[in-house]
Amino acid sequence: MSQHTPSLSFEVFPPNPAVGNEKILRALDDMQGLAPHFISVTASNNKYNIKETTVALANHIQNELEVPTIAHLPAIYLTKESVAETLQELDEVGVHRILALRGDIIPEVAPQKDFRYATDLISFIKEEQPHFEIVGACYPEGHPDSPNQISDIQNLKKKVDAGCSSLVTQLFFDNERFYDFRDKCILAGIEVPIHAGIMPILNRNQALRLLKTCENIHLPRKFKAILDKYEHDPESLKAAGLAYAVDQIVDLVTQDVAGVHLYTMNNAETAQYIHEATRAFFHTGSGSKQLA
Ligand code: FAD
Repeated sequence: MSQHTPSLSFEVFPPNPAVGNEKILRALDDMQGLAPHFISVTASNNKYNIKETTVALANHIQNELEVPTIAHLPAIYLTKESVAETLQELDEVGVHRILALRGDIIPEVAPQKDFRYATDLISFIKEEQPHFEIVGACYPEGHPDSPNQISDIQNLKKKVDAGCSSLVTQLFFDNERFYDFRDKCILAGIEVPIHAGIMPILNRNQALRLLKTCENIHLPRKFKAILDKYEHDPESLKAAGLAYAVDQIVDLVTQDVAGVHLYTMNNAETAQYIHEATRAFFHTGSGSKQLA
């Protein structure tokens, strides 16, 4: 039996600036009490000002709440100058961990030319701020732009070789797909820790949005049955969605997952529920300097 203890971490997103931060700050206060290994903060691909949203929230989590933080940074719509500026802003507030991303290509908006792939961003961060720790995104069921999983994993290897010290997956509902992907990564020589992204389904709208945006994700029979049966019964759907996520996590832990990264959707109640149900399995808090 492995002696490895996995980590539990959370993802939050900065709210629309017009809405304000009051709600997310309350949720973060509650999440802090759960001593997550880290909290990552997403960033807008081309909509909001990153300094006012992601950098500000990451600064709050890192310095006010004293929870280790990872700032996401999608770069397809950024120039080298603006990325250098954001890295400088993060450095000044002591946030030295980045989830380096390409970002989605929006069909009607022409990309900038400086960062074609996440790998280009990673190489740039390594030059600009060599002391930053870099995390990458990965896709157990293949990235939608990839012709097949093999080329996607070959590209992932390039990304890791460019300087990622760990990876976080896209959400998935079929653990078998994750294990298959993890085995293929090992065969491809990808040896960094892979954190499993888990999103509990709490309501019908969230489920419908997901089904529309994540076409590449396999929905197991058990999961589809929950959506079908409780489509019009919000309370039961939420209870079954949380139970499904806990079941997935228990299975992942028994299969030695490096960590579970919970897509909280800014909902502290979800984080509390999952934490309460699975706390016996996890190493929480930031024991080490490296998050991986
Ligand atoms: P890349 O790693 O660049 O891969 C994109 C595609 O290009 C893949 O098909 C890959 O196989 C291919 N590719 C990569 N390198 C090469 C190469 N050298 N040559 C040829 N092909 C190559 N989006 C946001 O806007 N904000 C966020 O905060 C955010 N957070 C995320 C967090 C996680 C954990 C995940 C999984 C995704 C997140 N995303 C976010 C979405 C992400 O930006 C999109 O999925 C985007 O389409 C791909 O980004 P990437 O960094 O994985 O791209």
